[in-house]
Parts: sequence; C-alpha cells; structure tokens
Amino acid sequence: MAAERLAEAGLAVTVYDRMPSVGRKLLIAGRGGLNLTHSEPLPRFLGRYGAARRVLAPAVEAWTPNALRAWCAGLGQDTFVGSSGRVFPVAFKATPLLRAWLQRLGRQGVQVRTGWRWTGWDGGALRFATPNGAAEVAADATVLALGGASWPRLGSDGAWTETLQAQGIAVTRLRPANCGFLHPWSPVFRERFAGMPLKRITLTFEGETVAGEAVLTQDGIEGGAIYALSRPLRDAIDREGSATPLLDLRPDLDAAALAARLGGPGQSLANALRKAGLSPAAGGLVREVGGTAPLAQRVKTLPLRLVGTTGLDRAISSAGGIALAELDGAFMLRRRPGVFACGEMLDWEAPTGGYLLQGAFSTGRAAAEGALAWLERAGTIAAAAGSAGPGRAARPAMEMAMVNPSEIIEHMEVVGSDGQHVGTVDNLVIKLTKKDPAAQGQHHLLKMDTVGSVEGGKLKLNIPASEAMQQEQAVG
Ligand SMILES: Cc1cc2nc3c(=O)[nH]c(=O)nc-3n(C[C@H](O)[C@H](O)[C@H](O)COP(=O)(O)OP(=O)(O)OC[C@H]3O[C@@H](n4cnc5c(N)ncnc54)[C@H](O)[C@@H]3O)c2cc1C
Repeated sequence: MAAERLAEAGLAVTVYDRMPSVGRKLLIAGRGGLNLTHSEPLPRFLGRYGAARRVLAPAVEAWTPNALRAWCAGLGQDTFVGSSGRVFPVAFKATPLLRAWLQRLGRQGVQVRTGWRWTGWDGGALRFATPNGAAEVAADATVLALGGASWPRLGSDGAWTETLQAQGIAVTRLRPANCGFLHPWSPVFRERFAGMPLKRITLTFEGETVAGEAVLTQDGIEGGAIYALSRPLRDAIDREGSATPLLDLRPDLDAAALAARLGGPGQSLANALRKAGLSPAAGGLVREVGGTAPLAQRVKTLPLRLVGTTGLDRAISSAGGIALAELDGAFMLRRRPGVFACGEMLDWEAPTGGYLLQGAFSTGRAAAEGALAWLERAGTIAAAAGSAGPGRAARPAMEMAMVNPSEIIEHMEVVGSDGQHVGTVDNLVIKLTKKDPAAQGQHHLLKMDTVGSVEGGKLKLNIPASEAMQQEQAVG
C-alpha cells in the first residue's frame, strides 16, 4: 500500500521481499474468504485497537474501511458485508485482488525484487542478502513493512526485531495473538475428538462473553471464539501460568430448561448428554473435564484450564513490535529519520474481523504520506500542488526523483507507465523559479550535468555561477 501511494505520487519505488513472491500472507488470509475490514461505525471500529488506538486512529480515519472497499472496487473486486458485519471481496478469495494489485503496481512502475532479505544498514545504505550475494541500496526514504512473526514460513519471521534493537529502537516482544491455546487432553480424548468442532458455544473470561465456534485440537483448542478472547487469555497465562475460561455448550437453553432435558438420576452420563442435544465432541468434553458440580451447571459453565498458547507459528497475528513511542506522528522512526514503519511490525494488536488488514493497509498508506512529506521537507521532491481527496495530490513534476539522474542519457526513449512512446530525452534540466530576484521575471533552465552536489541544503553546481548564468536558457 505504501508502494502504491509513493508511486502514485510519481516516485521511483522498489519493493524488496525476502520470499520468492510477494503477498503470501494475504493469499493465506484469502483461504478464509479474505475478511478485509469491518462495516461497524468507525468509533467502535477504532476501539478494537485498544491502547494503540491513539496511533492507529489517524491512519484509519485518513484511509477508512470505505476507502479500502473503494480501492478494492477500483481493482475490479467488489466487496460485500457479511451477516456479522465483516467485509469480504465478492470473489471470497485473495488471488484476483492480489493479481490486479500487482498489475497496477507494475503499470505505476513499481519494481519488485523477490528473494531479497533486508538485513540492516551500512551507514545510510540498506543492506540485503540476495540470491546473488550481499547488496547495498541507497534510498531517499524507506518504508519498512516486514510484518509480525506469525506463520513465519510465509515470510514475516520477525528477524528484523534484532536489527532494530541493535539500533537502539525499542521493540516489544512478539507474542501470539488470535491464537489457539494448550490443554493437556487425555490420550483417549485426543484420539477421538481432535479436529472436531464445538458449534454455537459461548466463552466467558474476565467478565467478557463471546459467542462463536471452536475446534478441539491435538493439544488444546482454537477457533473464532477462542481468538476473540486470546488477548486476555494470553496475558493471564503470562501472569499466572494458566487461564480458565468458562464454556457454555448450550447457550440457547437456560439452566432450568437444560436440567429438564438432562433428565433425572439413574441414566448413563452419555445418555443424559445426548438427550441434552450435545454433540459427541461437546459431550466428550464434559466428561473429559469432569468435576463435581451438577451436570447442568457443568454444561453451562464448563471450566477449561488453558496452560499456554499454541505459539507464533500457528497464530493468526502477533502482538508486540516496534514500540509506538519510537514513531513520530508520520510513522517515521525517531532514531532513523527517513525510515518509516507500518503494519503488523508495529506494537498493536486487534481481534479478527478485518481489523488486522485494515490496520496494515491504513498504516502503510500513512507511512507513505509521512515519507512524501519528509522528502518534501528535505527538498528531495517538489511540494505537491493542491490536494486530491483525502490524501495528497499526485506530484505533477518530480524534480529530483529517486532514480539516479546519471542513468538517464540523451536520446533515451521516454515511455508512459503503460509502455507507450512519449518522446526521446534531450536534456535533463533544472528549472529555476522566476520569482528569484536574479531571474528577472523569467524561468531559466540549467542542464542536469551541471549539478555537482547537494550541500547544506543548497544545490552546488560543478561550474562557477558566472558560467552557469551564461549557459542558462530563459523559457519565459
Ligand atoms: C492464516 C491467516 C489468516 C488471516 N486472515 C485474516 C483476515 O481474514 N483478515 C485480516 O484482517 N487479517 C488476517 N490475517 C492477518 C493479516 O494477514 C496480517 O495482519 C497482515 O498480512 C499483516 O500485513 P503486513 O504487511 O504488516 O505483514 P505481512 O503480510 O506479514 O507482510 C510482510 C512481508 O515482509 C516480508 N519480509 C519480512 N522480513 C523481511 C526482510 N527482512 N526482508 C525482506 N522482506 C521481509 C515478508 O516476506 C512479507 O511478504 C490472517 C493471517 C493468517 C496467518
């Protein structure tokens, strides 16, 4: 998203990804239909980011869930709102969206280098490990979007944490979010029920109740209802070694109705649970967890002691990352001017429901806006003329692009982003303002090959001023 915004503004952009192809996590998210965002009112939406709301809210307000939906539509992928308020592409997968997006980035001139792993800096230059050995790249601005550390085989392995910490940048430990939890099942239970769903249940922990589904796994439990409470469950386990949410396996029946269904004494437990309409997995769970409370109470408030998380490898997302205090209001690293960061590598977390992708997209967009403003302030690019929509206008001219001007040679063909012929290069020129007292009310052009260096905020030519003035060409 940052690459698109920067390219839209006329900058030369290269995306480096350590994997053989980009967008792998987006594709995996597509397996679940690609829950892009959520349709609930913005104040409620922003509340999902908890303590990080302060930092994420300006980014999401500037590029809202509606902007995300419009962006998808612009890529030919209409979206719809599901019954839960979650927003999905009509195609219900990520492949067409990613394909159309990469095509657009290609048309915008964005270069993509895959198999390039960023390993840090050498002075000001970015250092990479590439298939052809080490490489260094000088960039006028950098946006880091390296993800968290969940599902590391898809690319985001969190190795960057050490690189940034070595620079004195505070990084909060990466921990699983929206993850499964461990419960030591008996071998018999695991053998019979691992992989089976618990449908239409509720889960209560620390006063919060969520409805949904869960799946029994080899070593515990996972699924939507569990993910929704994963933050408090994980924090309690970190604090106290275990967390015990209460499961209601028949939330549609009150205790009295359930007791009536379960029947009186004198029948087998299995029979009673079946009569109460519990699935074999739910019934098995009641028996596995045991307890001495009356049966109806166990079905309605089954205490499930969880002793750990299933780990980052299997978590949907990660909590932790670059401490938010390390960023200025434009998502720039205070300790590394010109370097911006966005997405899951920042220290925020949110439940599933589309808040993760929206947060990653919106902060990517905001980091790009930050980079544009910074490049303008540094004088690297021309200030934008006017404003288009919520963002900044596309730059009409790029006086000092991120291409090395020496690569542009005379008579080189000039083509549009669509590859169509525009003309041939005569000279690269610098256009001097006509407001300058020395300009006598006219614009003047200076050839690019007269540029020596940029020093102390000044463009120093490689010829004396008198010679430059002779060479100058007035253009009205
Ligand atoms: C199974 C699954 C399903 C999900 N479903 C949803 C969903 O439906 N809705 C939702 O909102 N969220 C979902 N998420 C979460 C969402 O996909 C992520 O939060 C989001 O992709 C984060 O975006 P990001 O750009 O910050 O990081 P990523 O998408 O992880 O991208 C980071 C990129 O950086 C690259 N990289 C990392 N380190 C380096 C390096 N040193 N050098 C070069 N490149 C590097 C990686 O290869 C990767 O391509 C899901 C996640 C998973 C695992």
